[in-house]
Amino acid sequence: MSKTTSTDVLVIGGGLSGCMAAINAANHGAKVTILEKSHIERSGAAGTGNDHFWHWNPDIHPKLGWTIADMVRDISFDGEYGKTKGGYIDQELCEIVAAGTMEAVNNLESWGVQFKYDEIFPWNLQYEVPKGEKKYRIVPQFQSEWDTLNYDGRDLKKRLTEQCVKRRVKIFNRMAATGLLTKDRQIVGATGVDMRTGEFHVFKAKVVIMATGMDQSRLFTAPSGNWFNAQSPPTITGDGEAMAIRAGAEVFILQAGKTTNAGFQYMKNLVRSSGAATTCYPAGRYVNSEGETMIKHPAVREPLRKKRENVETSIREGKTPFYLDFTDAKEEEIAYAEWSYGNEGLCWVILEIMKDLGLDFRKDAFELALEPTGRLTDGFLALWINTECSSNVPGLFACSPVQFAGEVAAPTAAVLGWRSGEKAAKYSKEMEEHELDEKQIEAEKIRTTSPLKNTDGFTWQEVNLELNNIMEKYKRYVAGFNPSGIKDEISVTGIKTCLEQLEKLVASKMKAKDPHELVRCNEVINLIDVAKLMIRAAIEPEQYENSIWFLGKIVDNKPIFRKIPIKIKYPSKEAA
Ligand SMILES: Cc1cc2nc3c(=O)[nH]c(=O)nc-3n(C[C@H](O)[C@H](O)[C@H](O)COP(=O)(O)OP(=O)(O)OC[C@H]3O[C@@H](n4cnc5c(N)ncnc54)[C@H](O)[C@@H]3O)c2cc1C
Repeated sequence: MSKTTSTDVLVIGGGLSGCMAAINAANHGAKVTILEKSHIERSGAAGTGNDHFWHWNPDIHPKLGWTIADMVRDISFDGEYGKTKGGYIDQELCEIVAAGTMEAVNNLESWGVQFKYDEIFPWNLQYEVPKGEKKYRIVPQFQSEWDTLNYDGRDLKKRLTEQCVKRRVKIFNRMAATGLLTKDRQIVGATGVDMRTGEFHVFKAKVVIMATGMDQSRLFTAPSGNWFNAQSPPTITGDGEAMAIRAGAEVFILQAGKTTNAGFQYMKNLVRSSGAATTCYPAGRYVNSEGETMIKHPAVREPLRKKRENVETSIREGKTPFYLDFTDAKEEEIAYAEWSYGNEGLCWVILEIMKDLGLDFRKDAFELALEPTGRLTDGFLALWINTECSSNVPGLFACSPVQFAGEVAAPTAAVLGWRSGEKAAKYSKEMEEHELDEKQIEAEKIRTTSPLKNTDGFTWQEVNLELNNIMEKYKRYVAGFNPSGIKDEISVTGIKTCLEQLEKLVASKMKAKDPHELVRCNEVINLIDVAKLMIRAAIEPEQYENSIWFLGKIVDNKPIFRKIPIKIKYPSKEAA
């Protein structure tokens, strides 16, 4: 008999969204449990800190003539971010996110995250407050109005952990959820493997919130060439997506694509730190090897697409590499950027490395990783939810991974997490506890723990590497040879071969010498399940139509696809 824990609301993933979900579910009277593969104090994309948070502020933005509708329009179409999305945003969810950002900031502030300061600077938005009141440090980012708060977000996850503990949320750290338990299609709980002991656990729940993050790290070859040197945590491996797909949940699917511009956002060899974008504000130009300015500031409403023409010209003329250059900035601007670095991702590590190497923003320029034009981008999928944060499977809610509801960044995760917590808690009150299906549990135990017993078989690294090889081939067939959607015989045959190779790969015997490796094995199996649905979808011609969400699910082992139009509540003003 496996160790069993009962709860009302089970949150899978204790990252930013998962903690917000747990806190609010507890606020609404539910008994809450979190399963976290790592340790919630430092887990997930926000684990190493965030330094900026976009928001819509009812005290500031209406005075600037900027409404929530304007913000949604910006994020979907008209702002610098929107222009890259071309309307591929769920505007209903985006509106909810935009409207909820202020509450998120107020909550985080009340829990000890510092957002307001005695001193603001000339490059921050200047606005009036009653005498003696502190102010936000607001900077411009991708939207048409100044909306981004610079803040002390290094210990964001620590503050969230304290709030979970305060509300007696039961936290299982180092517990990797492996599968969802169902009874007559209704979610009744989940299973997990303890990453330290290898023990298999059962969690009985009235409702589950999926909060395992918006990434399928290690599905494709990492741009750095090393799985663990990546922008996103390399352990966000599509577990939530795979668990949901196996339980019959519908996901939206985005195929691999091809870039039309050169790109750079990261310092060379330090991709975990995105310090070459918003974080270096107000200083930090991008220059070419001749010292000519390419982009004055990378994340500040500059018409990036226009500037990219300069970049492409420099590349053609061989004026590479490109550098992040602070050397002409004022001392107080550099000091401000360094404060941001201290809070953002692993940028504080850059500062430490700089100290060790005797480097200084005041005198040294830093080489940027240059992504060439025509780079093939990865495919992606995520759960499809409605505005109640619920999926098509009764009892399965989600806040991350879900369809695009704004920039894939902290505000979206925080607001959807908060909302899903409330909705799930209310749902749990209407539900009776269901009996679990022992046969289902036993099958899941065998499926997820057998590599520990195997003395022969492949290691997780071997299978992961082969998966990468297959997925790189898939990318070339989908986006490399032809414009997407034009299907020649070679590409269709190639994609079908990729699928056959995945079927063989998933059947290969794996071995794990300890519980840690066991979890890595399960991650790879999850990635393969995600890949299979992505590749099956790639064969469907409707996949490539514009202005649609392409949705898929697995029912009785068969894929079922459908397309739905992207609803546009706030059309582009620019296009009109
Ligand atoms: C370096 C870096 C800097 C960033 N800076 C900013 C910023 O300044 N501003 C901003 O707005 N955004 C920023 N972001 C983005 C922002 O941090 C993320 O969008 C946000 O943290 C996502 O939260 P999430 O809950 O969706 O996912 P995550 O925080 O990634 O959480 C997912 C959690 O699920 C857990 N998990 C996964 N699988 C399982 C499983 N099987 N069982 C149990 N647990 C599991 C993971 O361990 C993880 O803790 C940054 C991201 C990075 C990587």
